[in-house]
Amino acid sequence: MLSNYTLCDSCLGRQFGGLIKGVTNRERGRAIKLVLALEGHKELVKGEGDELLKILINNGLFQPAANVLGLQIESKGCAICGGIMERIGEYAEGVARALEGLDYDNFLIGVRVSGDLADREDKIRAEFGIEFGESMRMECSREIGKEVSRITGKVVEFKKPDVVVLVEVPGPKISVRPMPLYISGRYRKLVRGIPQSKWDCVHCRGRGCEICHGTGKIYPTSVEEIIVGPLLERTGGKSAKFHGAGREDVDAIVVGNGRPFVVEIKEPKMRRIDLKELEDEINRRAEGKVEVLGLAFSDKKTVRSLKERAKVAEKSYRALVVVDREITEGDLEKIEKSFNGCLINQYTPKRVLHRRADKLRVKKVYEMKAKKLDSNRIEILVRCQGGLYVKELISGDDGRTKPSVSEVLGAGARCVELDVISVSEVGVQ
Ligand SMILES: [Zn+2]
Ligand SMILES: [Zn+2]
Repeated sequence: MLSNYTLCDSCLGRQFGGLIKGVTNRERGRAIKLVLALEGHKELVKGEGDELLKILINNGLFQPAANVLGLQIESKGCAICGGIMERIGEYAEGVARALEGLDYDNFLIGVRVSGDLADREDKIRAEFGIEFGESMRMECSREIGKEVSRITGKVVEFKKPDVVVLVEVPGPKISVRPMPLYISGRYRKLVRGIPQSKWDCVHCRGRGCEICHGTGKIYPTSVEEIIVGPLLERTGGKSAKFHGAGREDVDAIVVGNGRPFVVEIKEPKMRRIDLKELEDEINRRAEGKVEVLGLAFSDKKTVRSLKERAKVAEKSYRALVVVDREITEGDLEKIEKSFNGCLINQYTPKRVLHRRADKLRVKKVYEMKAKKLDSNRIEILVRCQGGLYVKELISGDDGRTKPSVSEVLGAGARCVELDVISVSEVGVQ
């Protein structure tokens, strides 16, 4: 290889990068050149010529060989990297500078090597049938990572890095991308009339118009906005996504242990925030409308399992029901008997059909308790599988939910108030 091409220590060593662990490619390359130089010196001493030493001087740029013949090394660029591998330190310094002012414990370096650099290496590799080589991209990211780690005192993390830095070689172009920060917790909603997430005004689609008084939304605030606002301020994040374990109606409250949620904060500047303090801040600003508890650092996997579990998790509701006729003691008994352990066939409620696909879901009611409040009002406590629409379980939704309280009573029944009492952490089948 050296007979045909000028190669720096790293680029020569990289062609054997798959052999012998725990050394750098630069060390590999230098070792190969050194062994060849020993051989070349032997040949010279035995009077067999200086050809090998000359190759090492001209194409290996190897000073010890030059010393034997009393020659100077010409400064020539490496045929593969053109000197880039000598500049790893510069790239690392650039990365360290780009990371300044950012809050992180660990990082990952990604490297993109320009097409012509990679092509040059591929061509030489093919010419010599290289079997144990490593890519320049791999070597650059590892070596830059080591150097950045030395400068910043932070560690390289492959699985869940706080920040990813992309280095374009030769560039240099450096872009820093803080990974999302996930914070989980539970919320209670203590007043009615607040949606879980922000609803864009349907007339202006969020731009702001006369109908929405320029706010761009239907409701003045939402659980999402109440929680996400202070979170974005604290973390300096670019944007945030709110994931709830299911959702309640605008007019339902959530009490008891609250509903689990995870907030995903995109491109946060601060990661190590005091969650207890943040919790207090959210609750102070929510003025009793919403309450958060148990804030904790979380991860992407939790978002997925939150969504999965919400479909099966057990939920408890309290429903205030108005019936079209007088209620008897027999009615209460009938309700409890009919629904304990009952499977409900439910088509997508008419009131959400405009935004949800029409499909049949089968959900279980584990337990139902009914209490008469006055002649035509009852309080119902229902423990059921997540994803069951409780208002329709009461009304029957014109036969789209079967059976229903209305059907069992043979009279019109509607839910006028709904409270979420608890959302279990663990799914119950
Ligand atoms: Zn090179
Ligand atoms: Zn509007």
